[in-house]
Amino acid sequence: MGEAERWLGTAVNSETLFYGVFGDPVRHSKSPAMLGRAFQAAGLNAVYGAFHVRPEQLRGAVEGVRSLGFRGVNVTIPHKVHVMEYLDEIDATASLAGAVNTIVNKDGRLVGYNTDGIGYVRSLKEETGARIEGSSILMLGAGGASRGVALALASERPARIWIANRTKDKAVSLAEELSRLTEAEGIAWEGIDHIIGKVDFVVNTTPIGMDPNTHETPIEPSMIVPGTVVSDLIYNPLITKFLRDARSRGAVIHGGLGMFVYQGAYAFEYWTGLSAPVEAMRSEVLRLLDNAGGGGA
Ligand code: NAP
Repeated sequence: MGEAERWLGTAVNSETLFYGVFGDPVRHSKSPAMLGRAFQAAGLNAVYGAFHVRPEQLRGAVEGVRSLGFRGVNVTIPHKVHVMEYLDEIDATASLAGAVNTIVNKDGRLVGYNTDGIGYVRSLKEETGARIEGSSILMLGAGGASRGVALALASERPARIWIANRTKDKAVSLAEELSRLTEAEGIAWEGIDHIIGKVDFVVNTTPIGMDPNTHETPIEPSMIVPGTVVSDLIYNPLITKFLRDARSRGAVIHGGLGMFVYQGAYAFEYWTGLSAPVEAMRSEVLRLLDNAGGGGA
């Protein structure tokens, strides 16, 4: 009998390793099911729970990881920035992104990583085959997710990144940070139509089009140029109106599911040192989305 079969169906016992996600809110999270499936597929005696941690409880929750010997946790909205002050070490990618989404407990020493950006880039490359090096990129939005993704894209040596945001100041300040890695410019939302025809990639990092507002789209379909790679961080729905419009205009499209799966896969790999069972993880998330009728990510 293999390790996986031995573990399947057995109960939590005194050898079980503990993992989880801290968020506020957290009940919508698909991480427990996805990582639970990963542990099961890898035959590990481990469980992953969702913990509703309010901002004022974050310090105590992180201390709990240390004192209870949790092997690792993910951290989601709104804790990704504040959690950094409670950790012993922050890896270079997370420092650059200014946010942590994965904590690894290395014998009581808590190390913070950011797997969002690298998860996005891996999914973009694998699913589109597109080359980022030397390309030009337009990002829509300058919020938390945009930051991690923009910094990971900038590390792939594109020729130029434009950031367009409703609040222009945020786009300008993110572009300033990116300019350490590549040429970057922050522009007002109204400037999109001057730039969109010049770029290889357009990436939506705003929540426009996310369930339940699935009829919305960040830009007019007529602005999309055939042959552009059009990407959306949203995975609920799997194909947003923005992507449907882009596909009908002859663009190559890329949705947010792969980013979600790979950020979890990198966390699994940091925690266990094993290759993540990516396909099992992806099918678990698809099963949940399907059961929810595509809603409730
Ligand atoms: P956030 O920090 O709240 O940032 C939202 C961004 O969208 C801001 O730049 C905001 O502009 C802009 N925005 C919001 N509503 C807008 C509107 N009506 N018109 C124009 N701009 C608007 O959110 P986030 O955490 O970055 O998340 C953004 C999206 O990414 C969400 O849909 C989330 O589900 C998705 N996401 C996906 C993954 C994944 O694994 N696939 C991971 C993380 C996030 P202002 O600055 O002007 O407010």
